[in-house]
Amino acid sequence: EEFVRRDSAVDKGDIESLRKFSWQEYMKKRKQKKVLELKDDIEDEPYLFGDEKLTEREIREFRYKREIYELIKKSTQEEDNVGEYRMPDAYDQQGSVDQEKRFAVSVQRYRDMGSAEKMNPFAEQEAWEDHQIENAALKFGAKNKEVSDNYEFVFEDQIDFIKASVLAGDNYEDEMHAKPSQDSAGKSAFHMLQEDRKALPIYTYRDQLLNAVKDHQVLIIVGETGSGKTTQIPQYLHEAGYTKLGKVGCTQPRRVAAMSVAARVAQEMGGKLGHEVGYSIRFEDCTSEKTILKYMTDGMLLRELLGEPDLGSYSVIIVDEAHERTLHTDILFGLVKDIARARPDLKLLISSATMDAEKFSDFFDQAPIFRFPGRRYPVDICFTTAPEADYMDAAITTVLTIHVKEPLGDVLVFLPGQEEIEAVEENLKHKIRGLGTKIRELIICPIYANLPSELQAKIFEPTPEGARKVVLATNIAETSLTIDGIKYVVDPGFSKMKSYNPRTGMESLLVTPISKASATQRTGRAGRTSPGKCYRLYTAFNYYNDLEDNTVPEIQRTNLASVVLSLKSLGIHNLLNFDFMDPPPSEALIKSLELLFALGALNQLGELTKAGRRMAEFPLDPMLSKMIVVSDKYKCSDEIISIAAMLSIGPSIFYRPKDKQVHADNAMKNFHVGNVGDHIAFLKIYNSWKETNYSTQWCYENYIQVRSMKRARDIRDQLEGLLERVEIDVSSNANELDSIRKSIVAGFFPHTAKLQKNGSYRTVKHPQTVHIHPASGLSQVLPRWVVYHQLVLTSKEYMRQVTELKPEWLIEIAPHYYQLKD
Ligand code: ADP
Ligand code: MG
Repeated sequence: EEFVRRDSAVDKGDIESLRKFSWQEYMKKRKQKKVLELKDDIEDEPYLFGDEKLTEREIREFRYKREIYELIKKSTQEEDNVGEYRMPDAYDQQGSVDQEKRFAVSVQRYRDMGSAEKMNPFAEQEAWEDHQIENAALKFGAKNKEVSDNYEFVFEDQIDFIKASVLAGDNYEDEMHAKPSQDSAGKSAFHMLQEDRKALPIYTYRDQLLNAVKDHQVLIIVGETGSGKTTQIPQYLHEAGYTKLGKVGCTQPRRVAAMSVAARVAQEMGGKLGHEVGYSIRFEDCTSEKTILKYMTDGMLLRELLGEPDLGSYSVIIVDEAHERTLHTDILFGLVKDIARARPDLKLLISSATMDAEKFSDFFDQAPIFRFPGRRYPVDICFTTAPEADYMDAAITTVLTIHVKEPLGDVLVFLPGQEEIEAVEENLKHKIRGLGTKIRELIICPIYANLPSELQAKIFEPTPEGARKVVLATNIAETSLTIDGIKYVVDPGFSKMKSYNPRTGMESLLVTPISKASATQRTGRAGRTSPGKCYRLYTAFNYYNDLEDNTVPEIQRTNLASVVLSLKSLGIHNLLNFDFMDPPPSEALIKSLELLFALGALNQLGELTKAGRRMAEFPLDPMLSKMIVVSDKYKCSDEIISIAAMLSIGPSIFYRPKDKQVHADNAMKNFHVGNVGDHIAFLKIYNSWKETNYSTQWCYENYIQVRSMKRARDIRDQLEGLLERVEIDVSSNANELDSIRKSIVAGFFPHTAKLQKNGSYRTVKHPQTVHIHPASGLSQVLPRWVVYHQLVLTSKEYMRQVTELKPEWLIEIAPHYYQLKD
């Protein structure tokens, strides 16, 4: 019953010996061996291409070998560079940064920032901060005579802030650009929207911009967040006639932004969303034949390219929020650059909120940069004087402090993710209830990706007179969405980021300290309509010494399997030659090729297999797609697509109100009867809901979010449609739970772990200690072997959504990956 990963160090000995084992040394040796093997083959090149006639297959095999050879050689060189990956100079002045070290440092920083006593002993820091305090112009939150007694108890735990600097506003003539009078008498809503449009900073530059677009095929556009780039440019292009030649497409890194902006633009154009103006996001297409302005996620444009490689139906493509440098945006850069060369009639606009656009210009063959000034009022920047033990508590205290002490004006709080937002929302509501009528009305608006669109619109509603709005947002409000009226920003200094450990090939969602560039963007959000204040819930010392200058582009810290599969299906075989703005580490490319090979999506030539082509049809992670494709064999595609849909929704399916946690947990237990595992429990939930004819009442009774379920149902419908497209019958095998489990294992066999004596788990591939997430139905059961969906790093490395596994399945399903230990 001992299983080890094949072709790894582990099969050579006891797991313990791994402790002493240097992965770097091992990988180096393994690579050297592979390089030598490949070199032998490749050195024959002139001979092979000489007299001897090669079959097509041999030529392709040769080319693939050469690609791998070069990748490996490159990654060996990267390692020789003091064992570090080289980063582009613009992103790291010191020249190189070790990804793995970065990962470890992030983890450590995350833990440190949450632990005041660990940070304090540093005399250096204290001295530095004393100095800052002396210079402080403003003391915030300290006991203040003017505060009425009523408020005293709000500050049971006060936070001291010092004002350290000011984010300067832009120089502009206030009167000239001032908003037209808000006098609504006799004006229609439509008319007022038109006036709003004219008040945006970009309006002054409308004609210049259109001229620049006329004169140049590719244009980089740079302007401050909120200046009107996303909402106005597509409309200007439409007004100038570009939509007569084809659609105008505008990509957004985030789903919520695509939806919300499209809704706004539809309103401004006086039409219905989905008609002239539409949006397209994964699993949701809100466009029609009539659509001429199409907002979409960058990932969706990538998908569209699979069906329409020249983007023939578009006259203009705008890659918006380019500064975000998401994985999909980066891949799009390379692809649209190529298309623009082949299609001189296609206009390409790259739009960004950061000022260092030279990099984009360089990449797009020195494309001209169109910059226009924004309009921002100065913002005071305050830091805490000491590290905060709990950033969520600190955020709540700060919001309440602002609410009772500062003049009216809305507050924007940045939190890492949905769970944190929900926790803060609940806590804040609880505290407000406790204060009753002693304070003014505080309206709480959460905003995150999974929030249903009706509620998303709430953040844009004007705040009633005398009240204050507090928006609890993820990174989405950093540059993608502009909310007018924000005067105060609360920045705890974290965001949730995918983090990829190139050694183990494992990806985690990790609450990570933001970069200085992000901190500046967040601060700027407070100065949109009047001078503002930004409260950073970390010390100035933290800021200057611990935060990196810029966020590392996602392509350099993520698992690439999914985009490699897309690129392969686009016919891009040699990834080495792909035009990356910042190439991913070769190691990560190799890892993704290895994974796709293990999943059977690529053959030894690196070509798409039939299964790979089918997998590429699904807009999902390759492991999920594999699970679906393979379910055909186990005759349980019906069940598997339900599970896949539920997995795509994730933890937001459940809710546990603080006062009813026991009830909620009991409701959940019903679905876990027999310790079936989280995947099967998802299936049971979905099927029970279906049996009640998708009843809302049933969801309430079972503490399940009805909106999440509706979304799961939509996703499931689409997956069903895609099954038909890849010619897989919908077949049901509900009583054979092991068939369902085997399908799961066939997709997720690289994610397996074995129980250890101390109750923790050790992953089989690249041994690492992990734990079952407390929310899992198996967290008390602790099966010997498990397959998991996802790793999430919070206080520990947790496996989320786990199912028990029979170890012999590994040999049955993935004999190329696992073998019995002798
Ligand atoms: P940029 O892309 O340059 O950051 P936008 O075009 O997104 O700027 O925003 C321009 C203006 O439109 C902002 O003042 C913003 O508040 C407003 N706006 C954008 N989306 C919405 C919406 N859904 N509801 C109301 N106002 C919106
Ligand atoms: Mg924008």
